[in-house]
Amino acid sequence: MTKETGWNLENSYAELPDKFYSIIDPNPVDGPKLVVLNESVATSLGLNVDLLRQQDGVEVFAGNKLPEGSSSLAQAYAGHQFGYFNMLGDGRALMVGEQITSGGKRCDIQLKGSGRTPYSRGGDGRAALGPMLREYIISEAMHALGVPTTRSLAVVTTGESIMRETALPGAIMTRVASSHLRVGTFEFASKWGTIDELQELADYSLKRHYPEVKFDGNQYLNLLKKVIEQQAYLISKWQLVGFIHGVMNTDNMTISGETIDYGPCAFMDKYDPLTVFSSIDREGRYAFANQPRIAGWNLARYAETLLPLLHEEQEKAVELAQEVLYGFSDLYHANYFRGMRSKLGLYNEEKEDQSLVEELLSLMAHYKADYTNTFRSLTLGEKECSALFETEDFKKWFNKWEERKARQSESKEESMQLMRNNNPAIIPRNHRVEEAIGAAENGDYSVLERLHHVLSMPYDYLPEQEEYTQLPPETEGPYRTFCGT
Ligand code: AMP
Ligand code: MG
Repeated sequence: MTKETGWNLENSYAELPDKFYSIIDPNPVDGPKLVVLNESVATSLGLNVDLLRQQDGVEVFAGNKLPEGSSSLAQAYAGHQFGYFNMLGDGRALMVGEQITSGGKRCDIQLKGSGRTPYSRGGDGRAALGPMLREYIISEAMHALGVPTTRSLAVVTTGESIMRETALPGAIMTRVASSHLRVGTFEFASKWGTIDELQELADYSLKRHYPEVKFDGNQYLNLLKKVIEQQAYLISKWQLVGFIHGVMNTDNMTISGETIDYGPCAFMDKYDPLTVFSSIDREGRYAFANQPRIAGWNLARYAETLLPLLHEEQEKAVELAQEVLYGFSDLYHANYFRGMRSKLGLYNEEKEDQSLVEELLSLMAHYKADYTNTFRSLTLGEKECSALFETEDFKKWFNKWEERKARQSESKEESMQLMRNNNPAIIPRNHRVEEAIGAAENGDYSVLERLHHVLSMPYDYLPEQEEYTQLPPETEGPYRTFCGT
């Protein structure tokens, strides 16, 4: 049966030394029910949607039954959480295997919320429906926005309640990732493994994510360079769409450069670089404007783990690592300003572009303008839609921008097209995400499905998306998100 479903699993990760994982059996649940299935992800994985919806398919998503070829395990990793080092590991996740698609792509299939593992510490290994749906919607929206990310294949409810502040419906999300290798995996190897084991992990990562790196010269320095490049690209994408991850611990930073672990994340409405949504981030460590700097900090932790592989003399190894790490900031800025120029319809590059961008952002901050809608209005040529646009400051900026556009050879139409391709008409606004989750918790999944649908084409500027551009009603306090663990 599972063969017809299209499962085609391997587990190359299990070929790493034993200490990198624990083989675990799934923890069955009482009454699994499929509540969301991402048909386009299923199809791209080569899976049969109709069979996935049947009892046998659902049992797989619930961890009640393993698909043919699966050897389930929990991965070991460590990580710096809010700056402090801890031993972690998959405390509530089960790796089912790596699906090999017909195109030869290798994707991790992981159940999140699947029960206790040897790494669970005090936790129950379970997840609540709300946070799993949140990850589902936001990760899929990120994908559609063109931001590298893990994907979401399905969510099942377990039929069991879990205890948090109150009893909540339990759920399991099936996550698809190009791998779950993290900075934290290397921190684990560096702390508790031998140099040979660390090297095996590095070789495995290179083979899996950066096969173009030749195994000669200093391939581990090249691995560090690649991860830095991918992260510089990823974080620039976050900043360009106004995404706040919320918990950028080193265990939540991938070697592949995909966004992972959508806990307390959220998109910014009004532009404020100091925005923090997460209730546990009291110091604002992971505030919007800090994300690039924190990525640099995390990458320095990554580089430290690689030192023994970079050079046999520690001093030389540090020198090599530092040189590459210093490059992160320039790479990030280049990506970011390239993206910003596209958001402003600029094809070529001029020296003053950076200040043009920064002036706009500071006006947005000063006049508390909505981040996404400001760029959307500029794209659509709407002039009277926000308080910002009425101000003299803005009008001055606008004239400068018009003059700047006139200095490029591309036509107005081409400039508009570039803006449409880079400024989303919609993002998953917090109040709409909450609304969809609330309805789903009461058994109505239509709100969520519609939200997922409109978010899947953010650059299409469709009439049906318009209502989703509305801002939330003014609330008394700032919006808060919770880890939901
Ligand atoms: P996260 O904040 O989701 O990145 O998780 C940090 C660590 O806590 C990871 O090792 C998770 O596996 C673990 N964890 C989170 N929630 C639970 C839970 N309910 N039960 C056991 N472990 C958990
Ligand atoms: Mg995590």
